[in-house]
Amino acid sequence: MNVILLGPPGAGKGTQARILVEGRAMVQLSTGDMLREARSSGTDMGRKVADVMDKGHLVTDGIVIGLIREKLISGTAPGGYIFDGFPRTLAQADALGTLMDEVGQSLDRVIEMQVDDAALVARITGRSTCAGCGEVYHDVTRPVPADGKCSNCGGTTFTRRTDDNADSLKTRLLAYYKQTSPLIGYYYAKGLLRGVDGLGEIADVAKEIGAILD
Ligand code: AMP
Repeated sequence: MNVILLGPPGAGKGTQARILVEGRAMVQLSTGDMLREARSSGTDMGRKVADVMDKGHLVTDGIVIGLIREKLISGTAPGGYIFDGFPRTLAQADALGTLMDEVGQSLDRVIEMQVDDAALVARITGRSTCAGCGEVYHDVTRPVPADGKCSNCGGTTFTRRTDDNADSLKTRLLAYYKQTSPLIGYYYAKGLLRGVDGLGEIADVAKEIGAILD
């Protein structure tokens, strides 16, 4: 099964992708994570995209398509791929279709994670991530354990994304509605789209997604 998790920033795509990786041996391909890694390792490309990302705009199609291409061509995923944060434009969606053909794979499902905008602001502004393993926490709904250690890996360093602020979120939401939401119709027309209520408890959303994939 190869699936796309589609939804606005803060919908829970990363959290659900991690659950699928653990439970189904799937491989998560998050262009946001790849770009953040390029930034922190100081590559030319990382430096080029830093400002665009901090402001909440989309980086160019060529860059993210290149990143995904590299992973698909060099990697294997017996349990399937989860595309998290990619594609985000119609050009990326077309390119993904072509790439999947090239590597002899197909896209099986596109899961739209539905949430309302007011909830996104609250989710995004309280978010932090374990620097060791990427586990996601939230100041109110899922605080870091009282002993200050990540429940997944025991790490003690937690970071906040530089683009998780109200200004950047506005731009990111606008980018979602203008550039990414047309993909809902695109994949509906291809018969691949399924919707889940992304506002539920993490475990309930995971169950809904699991039922779609089974
Ligand atoms: P994310 O972690 O998916 O929220 O992505 C963080 C930021 O990385 C986005 O706000 C964009 O600046 C950039 N980015 C990630 N994925 C893409 C993509 N598929 N297309 C364009 N920009 C992306």
